[in-house]
Formats: sequence, C-alpha cells, structure tokens
Amino acid sequence: MYKTETHLHTDESSSCGRVPAKELIRLYKEAGYTTVFVTDHFQKKGFAAYEATAQLHEERLQKFLTGYYLAKEEGDKIGVNVLLGAELRFLLGNVVDYLIYNFDIDVLRHFPRIYDMTPNEFFDFANERGILVIAAHPFRGSLHPVPSAVHGFEVINANPRKKDETYNDLALALADRYGSHLRTGGSDAHQCIDVGAGGIMTEKPILTSEDYINVLKSKKYTIINNTDEILRREKEKNNDK
Ligand SMILES: [Zn+2]
Ligand SMILES: [Zn+2]
Repeated sequence: MYKTETHLHTDESSSCGRVPAKELIRLYKEAGYTTVFVTDHFQKKGFAAYEATAQLHEERLQKFLTGYYLAKEEGDKIGVNVLLGAELRFLLGNVVDYLIYNFDIDVLRHFPRIYDMTPNEFFDFANERGILVIAAHPFRGSLHPVPSAVHGFEVINANPRKKDETYNDLALALADRYGSHLRTGGSDAHQCIDVGAGGIMTEKPILTSEDYINVLKSKKYTIINNTDEILRREKEKNNDK
C-alpha cells in the first residue's frame, strides 16, 4: 500500500508552519509516505496591499511557492513525490478554506483577485480549469462549507490543535448527506508531531494530481486516521514542558 499526504504547511510559506520544507519531506519519508501534497496557505489576510501592484502579487506568489520548491528538491533527492496544492481562504459570503489540487501556477499568478470570488464563483472558475476543490476541515471554528461549491470534503482532519473536537464528526455527517461528493483525509501538518497523522492509502502510488483525482473518484483508497496517536503525542509534549 502507498501513503499520500494531502494537507501540509511549510515553515517557509505558511506563517503558521513550524517545520522547514526539507525536514518535513524527510519526516514523511521516514513515516513511509510515497507522495506528499504541499498545501501552503494562499490568502489575502496579512497581505492587505496585495493588489496594489503586480510586483507585490508576484512576491506573494513566490513566497507561497518557496516551501513547495524546497520540498520538491528534497523529494527528488530522497524519493518522495512532491506535488503542489494550496489552501485558499475566501472571505465573501461564507468564510471557507478550500484545498485545491491540479492547478497551474499561472492560475494564481494571473488572477490576483481570486480571494474576492464567492465560493460559487470560484467553483465555476475551478471547473472550467479542471481544478479539484475540497472543503478543508469543514465546521472548524466559524467555517461553514458550501456543499454546492466543492467537489468534496476533508472528512478527517488529523491536526491535534483543534478547538472543537467534534468537527470531523460534523464533516462526516455532511459527507453522508452528500453521498456523491468526494472524501479526503489529511494531517494538516504544521509541526513535526503531526507528520503521519492523516492522508490516504492506495494500492497504486499517486504520481500526479490526476492520479489523486482518479483515486478519489474510484473510491479505492482508505483514509489514514491516527488522530488519537497524535493527540497522545501532543499531550506528552505538553507534559514535558
Ligand atoms: Zn495553517
Ligand atoms: Zn491547512
């Protein structure tokens, strides 16, 4: 079986990320993962002047890509497939975090106002371009997914630092209601102990973003859920303090 991480953040490109990209890839290699999607945050927050100039937007994009490029460099060296994803936040209407996959970097480059779309506008935009849209950790905090504006839901988000521990249950219930939607799981890794908490397991390795989409559609995969193990590690870490 092959393990794929679908959701992680690097220190270089996400302000909340705590582990440098290369170290993350080495940890995923140790944890037996074949493939890792780097899904750093790409959001308007913290970058109020982002649309002031094209140059600023390009700088923002390059910062976003740094973690991915470093991860890819390490992955090529030690044998981990590193693929590009992103976590976008939309602020209009329902505030939602979207994990997106299978997109061209130029999409982020040429549409600097992407964050100002409504979830439904973005969904049309994504469908025209073959982009996969997954609602990240639906129901965490004040997030409220728009089922008609996503292809699927992250039903298991294994990040241990969640405020409301019932949100995975709510996400699963939502996925049951929308049976034709896709389901994913991910570690949402920000720290070393998060590595290996989640993701998916498949019979064949996922080598491309298209492979990932096809596997989700085929339903021939299992979602990795080591949340309890991670919570135990998190508690241990806090006890050591
Ligand atoms: Zn984060
Ligand atoms: Zn995330």
